[in-house]
Amino acid sequence: MISVEEALERVLSTVRVLEPEVKPILDCAGQVLAEDIVAGFDIPPHDNSAMDGFAVLAGDTSTAGMKEPVYLDVIGEVAAGYTSSLILSRGKAVRIMTGAPLPAGADAVVQFENTDETERKRNNQPLDKIGILAPAARGLNVRLKGEDIQSGQVVLKKGCTLYPADIGVLASLGQAQAAVIRRPVISVLSTGDELCPAGQPLLPGQIYDSNTYTIAANIAMCGGVARIIGIGRDTLASLQNKIRHGLDADMLITSGGVSRGDYDVVKDVLAHMGTISFWTVRMKPGKPIAFGTLKTSRGSAVRDIPHLGLPGNPVSSMNTFEQFARPAIFKMLGKTNFKRPVVLATIDQDIVNDDGRRVFARVHVKRTAEGWTAALTGPQGSGILTSMSAANGLAIVLEDCPLARAGEQVQVQLLDNAAGIY
Ligand code: AMP
Ligand code: MG
Repeated sequence: MISVEEALERVLSTVRVLEPEVKPILDCAGQVLAEDIVAGFDIPPHDNSAMDGFAVLAGDTSTAGMKEPVYLDVIGEVAAGYTSSLILSRGKAVRIMTGAPLPAGADAVVQFENTDETERKRNNQPLDKIGILAPAARGLNVRLKGEDIQSGQVVLKKGCTLYPADIGVLASLGQAQAAVIRRPVISVLSTGDELCPAGQPLLPGQIYDSNTYTIAANIAMCGGVARIIGIGRDTLASLQNKIRHGLDADMLITSGGVSRGDYDVVKDVLAHMGTISFWTVRMKPGKPIAFGTLKTSRGSAVRDIPHLGLPGNPVSSMNTFEQFARPAIFKMLGKTNFKRPVVLATIDQDIVNDDGRRVFARVHVKRTAEGWTAALTGPQGSGILTSMSAANGLAIVLEDCPLARAGEQVQVQLLDNAAGIY
């Protein structure tokens, strides 16, 4: 039996970062950039107005006031999306809209509110003159060429995860596509003679297969692509056949068939078709978990596919996914910083650790004025999936701690559904 750390280390040293693919930027959100993005031009590409108003020479407006406006000749107008050949000289102004290029010579923009334009319109006065009602400092309401991005600048670094703002930055550089690490395709196979797929009538002795669904949903949440293989029966032949269908992928995740029961054949399959790295980890729930590689060939190329054999009990399967499959998927995606946030929380009940494993108890954490609290989400049996569904964290009791008492603080790994509570 190996430790959680050792098991994770073995999994992470086996899975590889996948290769890049080039695709439309809209499809890249959440993926890792596989190239540096260097700006080919300045953004903004030209000095432009940050307001609707009048482009002026700041020096002309220094004495302007509500009572004694400075009157300038309006020589034209420029809107966003257009250029103008107008040249501003002393005593002149150009009507300008937000985003429009600043006319040559202008060095400030006076917003409409600080001019007499509205009054002129109301009084049907000519608009070839404008009264400036407040002085404008040089650069007022002017957005300078290159103030956001300068030509030649590395704007986004290889290895960063692309979030919506980054997708926008790519678009603002005119880039329609980007190279990102591709998403891993992960085959999902549940094993057990007792399993019936959702949507079909349950026969006597059967239970509905839930692991396929929790695992596939988890794969999608992590950014992978789940390929459902279906349900394998508890015979070597059936499993080998199903597993062969699952090998055209970046990883295979099975559930069930790894504990010591007579029908637990996944380990046997791993031993026949590949290499087992480990099959027990000092954790609870989730001690029987197999990991290894399966050999597959396409043409003359032989590949080793990582295989995680998760335990069948639904909570064990989810906890082992959380501790090992999630990091493996993130590594394949090229991510490096994927540890869950951990908080110290006060538990509301005793958590007993009777055989020296690392216990992951399902809890609901809350932030209170006194700090974090963690309430156990009911009975902790590894078959009680609703204890997981009510949880937003996993409270950890370490191997060498036989009892964590109510009122003590323990570390809690926050799960996806804990987002927003801190
Ligand atoms: P096993 O690891 O195959 O010995 O299964 C342990 C327990 O988990 C048994 O009670 C199984 O019926 C249950 N189980 C196994 N696979 C699934 C599944 N896909 N969905 C729900 N329960 C399962
Ligand atoms: Mg089974």
